[in-house]
Amino acid sequence: MAIHEAFHMDMHIVALFDDINTRRDYYEVINNDPTRESFPKVVERIKTLQVLSSIFPEGAALTVSYQGTNFELETLFDLVGWIFSVTGKTPDDATPANYYYPLVILYTQWCRTLCNENKEPQMVQITWFSQESAKRVCIGGNLDRPKATRKEVARKRRFIMLHAGGLAEADEFEKRYTGDGGTFIGHCAETFPMLFVKSLEKKVTMADVKGVSVKPFKVLGDDVTDKFAVPNTDELRRSLLADPCENCQVILQRLGHINLDNFSIHNL
Ligand SMILES: [Zn+2]
Repeated sequence: MAIHEAFHMDMHIVALFDDINTRRDYYEVINNDPTRESFPKVVERIKTLQVLSSIFPEGAALTVSYQGTNFELETLFDLVGWIFSVTGKTPDDATPANYYYPLVILYTQWCRTLCNENKEPQMVQITWFSQESAKRVCIGGNLDRPKATRKEVARKRRFIMLHAGGLAEADEFEKRYTGDGGTFIGHCAETFPMLFVKSLEKKVTMADVKGVSVKPFKVLGDDVTDKFAVPNTDELRRSLLADPCENCQVILQRLGHINLDNFSIHNL
């Protein structure tokens, strides 16, 4: 079952996550043992955060496998993004209009519901690509909402993973390409999608990787009549979507032969 079909199911989101956890074949969770073994602890962590009414854990980040490579997932949005990234078979005929864009909108809706509407990310991102013969998506959110100190702890953890994966240089932790007052590397919604794709390096044709960032507060706004439809004017695209920032343009190109045009809001 493609995860977007779950949208039509009348089920509480966390109950759905429980159901996916107990029926991993039915929901077509990626058939990789370390990934599947991570599923129950991701669901447990989401439940813990729900009880705490927090998007951040009180203690350590959670070590979670993406297809055999371990990552430290911190926020509620990282955890839900991981579920979207490992669950459901992407249809062979998937396009931005019929699958990728609606899927990232669904993610923004679920983030909003799970965080009680007041701490949702300012930006989320979906990346799509082929891993050998399988189509995949990776989805993530940025680190906008927490208090500055907590956010910086999380960014440092993300930066360490980017550095370990060869996507960031050691001296870039306090360097930014976004100009004065811009964000630092590790902050962005692209971070986990880029890390996940990098971990599959040899199985992915980087020139074909595509993606788009969307602004949850805009795309879920009352004035957007059909929220699941790809914005069809330049003006709307500029309002609802975002190109990769200057930091991400640098990091994305370190994945290999990435075509940055594939991440442009005008090429969705
Ligand atoms: Zn960025």
